[in-house]
Amino acid sequence: MSHWHRQHTFRTSDLTTDVAILGGGFVGLSTAYWLTETRPDLKVAVIDRGTCGGGASGRNAGFLTVGSAAFYEALNRRWGQDRARHILSFATESLELINQHILKASPELKAERSYSQTLIGSEEQLGNWRSAGFDANIFNFNWQEGASLPGHLNERFIGAFQAEAEYKVNPVQLLGSLKSLLESRRVQIVENMSAYQLGPQGITTEVNTIRARHVVLALNGYLPQFHPAFTGIVTPRRAQMLAVELDEGLDCPALYYDPPERVYWRMAQEKVLIIGGKRLLDEAGETGDFEKLSPLIQEALEEYLRGQLGLRFKIIGRWSGIMGFTESELPIIESLAGPLPTVVVGGFSGHGMGLGFHAGREAAALVTGEKSASFFGPIKHSEIHL
Ligand SMILES: Cc1cc2nc3c(=O)[nH]c(=O)nc-3n(C[C@H](O)[C@H](O)[C@H](O)COP(=O)(O)OP(=O)(O)OC[C@H]3O[C@@H](n4cnc5c(N)ncnc54)[C@H](O)[C@@H]3O)c2cc1C
Repeated sequence: MSHWHRQHTFRTSDLTTDVAILGGGFVGLSTAYWLTETRPDLKVAVIDRGTCGGGASGRNAGFLTVGSAAFYEALNRRWGQDRARHILSFATESLELINQHILKASPELKAERSYSQTLIGSEEQLGNWRSAGFDANIFNFNWQEGASLPGHLNERFIGAFQAEAEYKVNPVQLLGSLKSLLESRRVQIVENMSAYQLGPQGITTEVNTIRARHVVLALNGYLPQFHPAFTGIVTPRRAQMLAVELDEGLDCPALYYDPPERVYWRMAQEKVLIIGGKRLLDEAGETGDFEKLSPLIQEALEEYLRGQLGLRFKIIGRWSGIMGFTESELPIIESLAGPLPTVVVGGFSGHGMGLGFHAGREAAALVTGEKSASFFGPIKHSEIHL
């Protein structure tokens, strides 16, 4: 922060707190929520280098979803049924907790209950999934025969696996409501302040050292930028989106995952559709921790809307965001060895809006000592030394 900015904005020169949470995305704010819920005696501060929700949390599709059936089929194949079902039940519980604790208490959000569909191309695909051990019934996906879809999708798909009890929400408003709730609980939220180092005294920022007894790193895709120990453990990957205004309305109430085309899309408002995906067209180019747009991906998204959905539209927005991927595609929620007691909660691999609120509860329980171990992956990250 320059001398000139500081004169105008900085008012927290002597910040001392029990818990300092770095990162004011959905997960950082969720961790603060659970800390204040279970330990109202603790002083909690959230520090973000931009504004809360300025990262991936305010840049996604605005859909609180457990994720696609294809994601769980892949987890099942790689990690076995028990672990894959554990993630799904964690995500399902996360959505229930968000509904109980935030959506019901925040009517201004106008969150709508909704559902998502993973489109399935053929009996052969279903057979392949089954022979790889994926049973949709065990995973609670409901089979919808011959879903009615626009454009060429009816020719390409025989049906869909549907996940229920999900929510459409404006994610920027969601973060805003959560932030207001935290402020009413006296959580100190410091925005526009970059943290860059941990030491025995606390966190060094651009302007001071924040003294803290515990630190939570909720930086997701920015973890390796903050500390090199996360390099190769969490990889920042870009996701791009496109918003279009349709010439005519489209009766498609769900969020749709098209696994072969690697896109997902939904109606955001009447005649406004948002679509994301196509990242793997340029996997290397889409690895990195800064937001940008690329013609290759954006044109592929446009082409999908024209070619596959047969839509006519005008473009009203393009954006991107940074996600944090682990090699296992399972998040890390762990206590780490470092200069002061530290918990990391990140690596959501594109699923942080579904998993994040519950993950914040786990991270808070690690801080308070209510739990001693929480991890999803088959790997414990004992190699991370801060
Ligand atoms: C286009 C797109 C589509 C997505 N679709 C879905 C979906 O369908 N379902 C789903 O569940 N998830 C989805 N995600 C992923 C989801 O948005 C993320 O997993 C989730 O938002 C992660 O939240 P977070 O709080 O961990 O990270 P973030 O929201 O990225 O928050 C991290 C914060 O850390 C701050 N920060 C970084 N460095 C510093 C520093 N040095 N000091 C202080 N602060 C710092 C940043 O400013 C940022 O606000 C999508 C993401 C994108 C981009």
